[in-house]
Amino acid sequence: MAEVELSGVTKAFSGQAAVNDVSFAVAAGHLVALLGPSGCGKSTTLRLIAGLEQSTAGTIKISGRDVTHTAPAERGVSMVFQSYALFPHLSVEQNILFGLEVRKVPKPERIARLKRAVGILGLDQLLDRKPSQLSGGQQQRVALGRAIVAETPVCLMDEPLSNLDAQLRLDMRREIRALQRRLGVTMIYVTHDQVEAMTMADRIVLMRSGHVEQHGTPEELYGRPATVFTARFIGTPPMNVLPLAALGEAAARFAPDGRDASTVSLGVRPEHVRLSDTGIHATVTAVEYLGADSLIDARIGDGALAASFVVRVPGKVAAGEGGRLGLDWDVADTHHFDTASGRRIA
Ligand code: ATP
Repeated sequence: MAEVELSGVTKAFSGQAAVNDVSFAVAAGHLVALLGPSGCGKSTTLRLIAGLEQSTAGTIKISGRDVTHTAPAERGVSMVFQSYALFPHLSVEQNILFGLEVRKVPKPERIARLKRAVGILGLDQLLDRKPSQLSGGQQQRVALGRAIVAETPVCLMDEPLSNLDAQLRLDMRREIRALQRRLGVTMIYVTHDQVEAMTMADRIVLMRSGHVEQHGTPEELYGRPATVFTARFIGTPPMNVLPLAALGEAAARFAPDGRDASTVSLGVRPEHVRLSDTGIHATVTAVEYLGADSLIDARIGDGALAASFVVRVPGKVAAGEGGRLGLDWDVADTHHFDTASGRRIA
């Protein structure tokens, strides 16, 4: 059953659509990532679900109830912001309990919920501290604690980890995911970080310029991107996408059936390419050694048809700048797109 459902939701600011005809459903107990580049409308979509913005058109349902015009407090959602939004003059305990006091939850119930949340988050020793006496990760846990004690069926998160350093982000990602599973809460999680979306989400809603570009599982977005935009947004380094003709004589082998090759772009992920003496000729333009693997920047083709190509290979490569390589990959790892529209060719 869909716990959250958006149908044709549009939000315009001064006549300019920030969110344009967005529809998607989130199943109960799922974690869905709203992913996309800066300014694509992720935060606005989340704020519309929370009721912090009023939609210009469309309907929003939560737990089967139309909440399009319902006040935020009556929607059954909690929200965690990038800034944590903690009150500086209140202690950790007071910050966590604030919402419950406002909603007049009886004291014994408040204490029970506090105990549960604090136990889960490991905040037991910090309850009397003020936010200024906490690390970034601890402040983030307090913000999570506030969402947990609300015990709403739906939790909304807006880039909750963006103020943390890389290692802590990794730990908190796992923690949030485990917590979401344990509590069985439905979560919508805004991020511009595709790795975060891929590792945490059951499904990803990839947004672009206010609309939904593709909605699917991480495997679907990675394995069958519907557009060049999705293909290049998911995966690092991005998929190589180039005119089929740039492959020269090899183009025939990688061409889709029954299409004029001149209208087709070919896509292949850097990690699916291997070095092969009999493969397509390439010239190395740069090599980056990363430890477990290396990234090779190469050029293939000549003149107007020359194209750059990135290859990811295990370990260290002997080749240096200016060196010659042969590149090959399985036909099954080839993606095809219509060059004009950028859409996948089935
Ligand atoms: P980011 O990752 O940078 O936060 P985002 O994908 O969350 O970006 P939104 O914050 O939803 O994007 O903004 C989408 C578009 O709507 C942007 O062009 C933004 O400038 C515009 N916008 C957002 N809020 C307002 C507002 N209150 N008034 C006018 N324009 C707004």
